[in-house]
Amino acid sequence: MIKKQAAVFLDRDKTLIEDPGYLADPNEVKLLPGAADAVRRWNEAGYRVVVVTNQSGVARGLITEDQLQDIHTQLEMLLEEQDATLDAIYYCPYLDGPEAIVPKYRRDSPLRKPKPGMLLKAADDLDLDLSHSWMVGDRIEDIQAGLAAGCKTVFLTEDTEQSSEVDADFVADTLLSASDIVLNGRDEAAEQPDAPDPPPGLSTVDTAAPVQRDQLLDVLKDVRSLLQQQQRESAQRDFSLARLGATLFQIVAIAILLWGLNAFISGDEASAAIALPRFVLAGVIQLVALTLYVTDRSN
Ligand SMILES: [Mg+2]
Repeated sequence: MIKKQAAVFLDRDKTLIEDPGYLADPNEVKLLPGAADAVRRWNEAGYRVVVVTNQSGVARGLITEDQLQDIHTQLEMLLEEQDATLDAIYYCPYLDGPEAIVPKYRRDSPLRKPKPGMLLKAADDLDLDLSHSWMVGDRIEDIQAGLAAGCKTVFLTEDTEQSSEVDADFVADTLLSASDIVLNGRDEAAEQPDAPDPPPGLSTVDTAAPVQRDQLLDVLKDVRSLLQQQQRESAQRDFSLARLGATLFQIVAIAILLWGLNAFISGDEASAAIALPRFVLAGVIQLVALTLYVTDRSN
């Protein structure tokens, strides 16, 4: 079976390019420092690189889808100039609420981050392995979408206070630092002695994948419950042995006592003399039986 490819999903504004606010002019597209280097590194490592961007400017009537297409063509061209390639760009033009003045785009869309729709659609279109994929972005919605899709996440920020409010797997200050995190994660997994050598272009972040982490936790829970069950069974087994032993010793003690009594009441002096050690023996065995009962109770 052919293994699915892993992807790095990227937010667009303030992640890949500068954000002047509802960018409408292709000439204003400016890559952030190091962005092309990061994308190229992911290309070379075999990741698919996919942009997923909310573009409510379309629903707000600030930009048309054609203009958006021109902007994305420019973005791809600027990256290509530095030998960096995007595999796909997904955008969500929809927005719910009165700010959406273009009726066609006024809706609550599953594509709009923090919902994971764009990532799921890309995974379907490009046959991606989401559990080995990453989402990188500068807003909490990016991280939420990535987590909802089962990806590892890198939150881009220089504000350490803000980073503590976001439940991302990693924090980086630039896209280039984020590429280090993603690629180091892959290298660490590849160094695991049991990890098979993956074909080029396939992610190997096995130890970091959320789905596998969940599976591991499930296995650990199963092992723990199995051990608890064994302990319970073991306790029950000890309980039965102690009880059985006590009962057997009790029966023997009574039998010897009766044997002694039989000799004692037979009348002659010789018989009475041999009754005494039988009584002593019955007493000792009775003591053993009592000890076993006590052991049983303490369990
Ligand atoms: Mg952004």
